[in-house]
Amino acid sequence: MDLKNKGMLVVFSGPSGCGKDTVLDKIKEQGYVFDKTVSVTTRAMRDGEINGVDYYFISKEEFLEKIKNNEFVEYTEYSGNYYGTLKSEIENRVSKGGCVLLKIEVEGAENIKKAFNEAVSIFIFPPSKEELKNRLLGRGTETEESFNIRYNTALKEMAKAPQYDYVVINDNVDLCAETVCGILNAEKTKYSRMQTIIDEILNK
Ligand code: 5GP
Repeated sequence: MDLKNKGMLVVFSGPSGCGKDTVLDKIKEQGYVFDKTVSVTTRAMRDGEINGVDYYFISKEEFLEKIKNNEFVEYTEYSGNYYGTLKSEIENRVSKGGCVLLKIEVEGAENIKKAFNEAVSIFIFPPSKEELKNRLLGRGTETEESFNIRYNTALKEMAKAPQYDYVVINDNVDLCAETVCGILNAEKTKYSRMQTIIDEILNK
């Protein structure tokens, strides 16, 4: 799909525990409107999550069927579960315009960048490893085994930061959200995204 003159596709990543959900909530509070895609996963639903809002929760068999039917633009196995972005989720939203958000891990981000060169990728980085550990433990949703898996995965993910367009350290959630908004506003005004509007002004 050609993204020219269509919405902006934003890939938002960061290790589990880096606070990316809090940053996104702050950005929304500031009035920024995202159209967030809903991913498909085989992991168990956590307390408070809603099927169809947080994820489409399906079985491994159903996931494998969707892979076979070529329904994903990208998918990956992460911490022992499958996660994937449906083609339909992106196509419907991007063609409407606006800012389409994918909150996905590093391998998926790399695949989205391959498929959509103009996608803007942002990586949220924790201020220190100690803080990352505290945040992962503070969640209270992890067993010791899943904590170790998530911590080691986080370290591996952080090593992939160089593949992103932008890296923002989440030391202070307000400042982090402000920086991300700055990036999005700047990206929106890139000539390639402004071309249609400029042509309209010139041709009036
Ligand atoms: P969680 O289980 O904590 O909700 O998500 C685990 C990781 O999977 C997070 O880094 C999240 O951003 C990522 N993730 C969620 N949906 C997708 C997806 O559709 N594709 C990929 N590649 N990663 C995803």
